[in-house]
Amino acid sequence: MSNQSQLEKLNLEMSQCTKCPLRGDCQRVVFGAGDPEAEIMFIGEAPGKKEDELGMPFLGSTGRILDKMLEGIKIKREDVYLTNICKCRPPENRDPLPEEIELCSPWLEKQIQIINPKIIVTLGRFALNYFLSEAKISQVHGNISEINIEKIGKIKLFPLHHPAAARINRQTRALFTQDFQKIPNILNQIKKEQ
Ligand code: URA
Repeated sequence: MSNQSQLEKLNLEMSQCTKCPLRGDCQRVVFGAGDPEAEIMFIGEAPGKKEDELGMPFLGSTGRILDKMLEGIKIKREDVYLTNICKCRPPENRDPLPEEIELCSPWLEKQIQIINPKIIVTLGRFALNYFLSEAKISQVHGNISEINIEKIGKIKLFPLHHPAAARINRQTRALFTQDFQKIPNILNQIKKEQ
C-alpha cells in the first residue's frame, strides 16, 4: 500500500479516536499535512484555535513564521510533513498533559513509521521531550542526534525552538532562524551517508 493510502487509512482511524478527553472539547482531530513521502517531518505541540477550525497544522501567525523559514531554505510546505504530538486542541491552548501525550503517541508513532523520514525536526520542548525526555531545548537546539523508532530503526533528530516562541522573543527568533538554515546541509549530509 502506498504511503498516501496508509496515511488515509490511519487518518480515518484517528478521526474516531476517543482515547482522551481532549477530543470532547475540540472540533476535530488535526492529523497532519504534507507529502506522505517527505524526507523532513516537522513535529509541533498541538493544534491551536485556527488549526482546530480548519483541520490543518501550523496555521495563523505561528504557521506564517514556519512558512517564512521554509521559504528561506527554498523548501515548499507541501514537500515536508507537518504534524503534532497531540492531534487535538487542548482547551484555551493550554500545555498538553503527560497522559494526553501518552495516549496520543501511538498515532504519531504510526505516522513516523509510514513516512519514514530522513530527519525529524521537533518544534519546541514538548516534541523534543517526547523523544528525549531529559533534554533541555536551550542546550540541544540546533544539534543533531539519533533516535530509535520501533519497526524502522534509527532516524536523525534535529530539535528547534518552537516558532511561537520565536514570534515573541527576538533572541529566540535569531536562534530559530540560525538553526533552521542548517536544515538543507544536514539533509544533504544524511543522504550522503546513506
Ligand atoms: N500549531 C500547530 O499545529 N502546532 C503547534 O505546536 C503550534 C501551532
